[in-house]
Amino acid sequence: MVVVNDYESFQKERKKLQGSVGFVPTMGALHSGHLSLIQRAREECDFVVVSIFVNPTQFLEGEDLDKYPRKDEADKKICQRAGVDILFMPTVYSIYNRDELLLEAPRVRGFILEGAKRPGHFDGVLQIVMKLLNIVKPNRAYFGKKDAQQLALIEQMVRDYFIDTTIVPCEIVRDESGLALSSRNVYLSEDEKQRALSLSRSLKLASDMISSGELDTVKIKEAMQELLLKSVDKLDYVAIVDREFNNLETVEIGNSIILVAAFVGTTRLIDNLWL
Ligand code: AMP
Repeated sequence: MVVVNDYESFQKERKKLQGSVGFVPTMGALHSGHLSLIQRAREECDFVVVSIFVNPTQFLEGEDLDKYPRKDEADKKICQRAGVDILFMPTVYSIYNRDELLLEAPRVRGFILEGAKRPGHFDGVLQIVMKLLNIVKPNRAYFGKKDAQQLALIEQMVRDYFIDTTIVPCEIVRDESGLALSSRNVYLSEDEKQRALSLSRSLKLASDMISSGELDTVKIKEAMQELLLKSVDKLDYVAIVDREFNNLETVEIGNSIILVAAFVGTTRLIDNLWL
């Protein structure tokens, strides 16, 4: 595995890769969720590129940019063991220019749910993903369904801008208690971790209601909210949308996503279930 920190060095290494390239963009502090994406890329492509870049433009004022967990040495070992070919860890300076041409998230899908709660977040996400796709030029790029709206907007960007990369959605990896893995879970105390389980439990409750024939999204959301409000400190949203992110009145099996976002202590967590 080679580790490179700027565009020029990356290009030199990229030219040596003769075959299909799978790409996994991350912000580091790697866990088994990231690893599942890397393993899938390893299985499906001749070469695997991973990037680790804590992207400043997707953090809002007052969010956790400065304290976002950084574990460069441990991450390098994880990538090495996972058979990564190039680990790209660019500096902020090598990625961004002054007075850049900017991308904006689409007017509707970019400004609901996460886009409403974190205005500007998706502009930054699209900006960095566009740059990374242009730098890495992967055949396939792997993204987690955990960030469902991010995944949908990246798929749209690739379509709208005719980017020659296949976006591969990957399943959510959870720990044995059901908590969706996230680099931000390290912020949680033991008590908060217990309370954070209410997110996955609310999704399980929704799934049980649906299995027993309840498809009315108002009733499902009410039941989820009741469960969540006993444990979380602030509930940002519970939503049931179709795969295009339109609100649904009735669950459509095979075309629905149930999403939840909440604060436990000062940590903001998201989770979702694809039906
Ligand atoms: P991040 O480092 O949090 O920006 O995540 C990098 C990629 O890993 C994104 O595509 C995430 O959706 C994905 N990811 C993060 N957590 C998980 C998880 N628990 N299961 C599957 N994919 C994940």
